[in-house]
Amino acid sequence: MSQFMGNVYDALFGCHHAHLSRAFTIKGRTYKVCTDCGREFDYSLETMSVTDPSPASHVYPVAVPHAAH
Ligand SMILES: [Zn+2]
Repeated sequence: MSQFMGNVYDALFGCHHAHLSRAFTIKGRTYKVCTDCGREFDYSLETMSVTDPSPASHVYPVAVPHAAH
Protein backbone atom coordinates (compact mmCIF):
# COMPACT_ATOMS: atom_id res chain seq x y z
CA MET A 1 0.00 0.00 0.00
CA SER A 2 2.83 2.32 0.79
CA GLN A 3 4.22 1.64 -2.68
CA PHE A 4 0.90 2.66 -4.20
CA MET A 5 0.81 5.85 -2.17
CA GLY A 6 4.37 6.57 -3.23
CA ASN A 7 3.46 6.24 -6.86
CA VAL A 8 0.48 8.56 -6.44
CA TYR A 9 2.66 11.03 -4.60
CA ASP A 10 5.24 10.98 -7.37
CA ALA A 11 2.56 11.39 -10.02
CA LEU A 12 0.99 14.35 -8.28
CA PHE A 13 3.98 16.15 -6.89
CA GLY A 14 7.00 14.61 -8.55
CA CYS A 15 9.90 13.02 -6.76
CA HIS A 16 11.45 15.12 -4.03
CA HIS A 17 14.63 13.09 -4.29
CA ALA A 18 14.73 12.67 -0.54
CA HIS A 19 16.65 9.43 -0.77
CA LEU A 20 19.95 9.91 -2.51
CA SER A 21 22.58 7.22 -2.69
CA ARG A 22 26.13 7.76 -1.57
CA ALA A 23 28.29 9.65 -3.99
CA PHE A 24 29.78 7.68 -6.85
CA THR A 25 32.79 8.72 -8.85
CA ILE A 26 32.84 7.09 -12.24
CA LYS A 27 35.06 8.18 -15.11
CA GLY A 28 35.87 11.44 -13.40
CA ARG A 29 32.29 12.33 -12.75
CA THR A 30 30.94 12.35 -9.21
CA TYR A 31 27.25 12.09 -8.69
CA LYS A 32 24.54 10.76 -6.47
CA VAL A 33 21.51 8.84 -7.61
CA CYS A 34 17.98 9.20 -6.29
CA THR A 35 16.99 5.76 -5.07
CA ASP A 36 13.35 6.62 -5.67
CA CYS A 37 13.34 7.78 -9.28
CA GLY A 38 16.89 7.07 -10.45
CA ARG A 39 17.73 10.61 -11.40
CA GLU A 40 21.39 11.54 -11.21
CA PHE A 41 22.73 14.59 -9.45
CA ASP A 42 26.18 16.00 -9.95
CA TYR A 43 27.97 16.08 -6.63
CA SER A 44 30.92 18.16 -5.55
CA LEU A 45 33.45 16.54 -3.24
CA GLU A 46 34.77 20.02 -2.50
CA THR A 47 31.54 21.44 -1.17
CA MET A 48 30.16 18.05 -0.16
CA SER A 49 26.88 18.90 -1.75
CA VAL A 50 24.87 18.39 -4.89
CA THR A 51 25.88 20.98 -7.42
CA ASP A 52 23.02 20.48 -9.82
CA PRO A 53 19.76 19.81 -7.98
CA SER A 54 17.61 20.06 -11.09
CA PRO A 55 19.32 18.30 -14.00
CA ALA A 56 16.00 17.92 -15.79
CA SER A 57 15.82 21.62 -16.49
CA HIS A 58 19.19 22.44 -17.86
CA VAL A 59 18.91 26.05 -18.86
CA TYR A 60 22.09 28.02 -18.59
CA PRO A 61 21.50 31.67 -19.41
CA VAL A 62 25.02 32.00 -20.65
CA ALA A 63 25.63 35.23 -22.45
CA VAL A 64 26.91 34.57 -25.92
CA PRO A 65 30.20 36.41 -26.44
CA HIS A 66 30.05 39.05 -29.08
CA ALA A 67 31.01 37.10 -32.17
CA ALA A 68 31.68 40.09 -34.34
CA HIS A 69 35.30 39.97 -35.13
ZN1 LIG B 1 13.94 11.25 -7.11
